[in-house]
Amino acid sequence: MARVALLLGGNIGDVKRTLQAAQQLINERVGAVMRCSNRYESAPWGFESTNPFFNQALECSTELTAEEVLDAIQQIENELGRNRAAEQIEKAATGARYTSRPIDIDILFYGSEVISTERLQIPHPHLPEREFALAPLAEIMRSFRHPQFDRTVGEMLEAVRQTN
Ligand code: ADP
Ligand code: MG
Repeated sequence: MARVALLLGGNIGDVKRTLQAAQQLINERVGAVMRCSNRYESAPWGFESTNPFFNQALECSTELTAEEVLDAIQQIENELGRNRAAEQIEKAATGARYTSRPIDIDILFYGSEVISTERLQIPHPHLPEREFALAPLAEIMRSFRHPQFDRTVGEMLEAVRQTN
């Protein structure tokens, strides 16, 4: 049994409904959702878009391995309308690293494990610099300590706010 922290995000369509549907599917397939943050709105990051992003952090208790969690969340993204092929075309056209999407689900932490494979990097490598991930995460696990940086989620959030 492991505690897994997920970040849900999206900026296309009825994002509130999509996040709710994602949470329900995660609860059924990944494991019981123990805690869930409010939805946070932020401006798009790393690309141009007029649609704001909404993000929400979840903590769930899972029997799955980290790889199996990734399989499950990618399946859920697909079912909720994420179209990676279309995103690739948009990225190629705009040269941007990120694109609009109805739903993105990332694994932030899997217990205190450090995993680095071709498919999976845990803790999520961009977490320390992303206020839009740290703010919702701090709401549900402020005192959790990052296994590589010896800083809590709350401390990382304060640090990123000082540089912004
Ligand atoms: P991004 O989340 O960077 O916008 P994608 O959602 O398309 O982009 O994910 C790209 C790839 O990132 C996935 O195919 C997955 O294999 C990989 N990946 C590596 N680490 C993680 C993680 N911690 N959580 C989710 N995906 C990850
Ligand atoms: Mg992702």
